[in-house]
Amino acid sequence: MTYELVTCNPEQTRDLGSRLGRRIQGGLTIRLNGDLGSGKTCFVQGLARGLEVPENYDITSPTYALIHEYPGRIPLYHVDLYRLRGSMDADSVGLWELFDMEAVVAVEWEERLDESDWPETGLKIELRIAGDAKRHIRLFGYGLESDNLIRETVENWNP
Ligand code: ADP
Ligand code: MG
Repeated sequence: MTYELVTCNPEQTRDLGSRLGRRIQGGLTIRLNGDLGSGKTCFVQGLARGLEVPENYDITSPTYALIHEYPGRIPLYHVDLYRLRGSMDADSVGLWELFDMEAVVAVEWEERLDESDWPETGLKIELRIAGDAKRHIRLFGYGLESDNLIRETVENWNP
């Protein structure tokens, strides 16, 4: 099932991430796609709050490092594949190992990888710029548990 909503400012996108993060109980892969400036990093900032990453950690796009790791209720790995050229590169940064960990792995520019590279379960979130501060967000859950996670988050979301 696909869920859709609109955020009207960055705080709302952060809030959505935070509310989703609070509901996460174990390892989960979150694929994020959308143009530059669509709010992927903004969403992950909220996600980090929901996972109780300490406030003093600044969540910034790991464009050059490719992967940033944060301690939280569940460890958070923030990945940005913008500069990735293909699955071979993903090997070398150790992306596959992350999928087997009891961690939340949030991946910007997920479209850089093939569909078959991803775990069978998890979330995919698409952000589209719809105005200066307006973002259309579509959320998909792969597997029952992921679908429930999104449904509960969206149903209880009142910005
Ligand atoms: P990305 O990681 O997708 O490149 P960022 O999260 O780094 O995007 O940047 C999003 C930019 O858009 C920020 O400057 C943010 O303030 C702005 N913005 C405006 N409206 C929104 C919104 N509704 N949701 C998220 N970001 C927004
Ligand atoms: Mg980013």
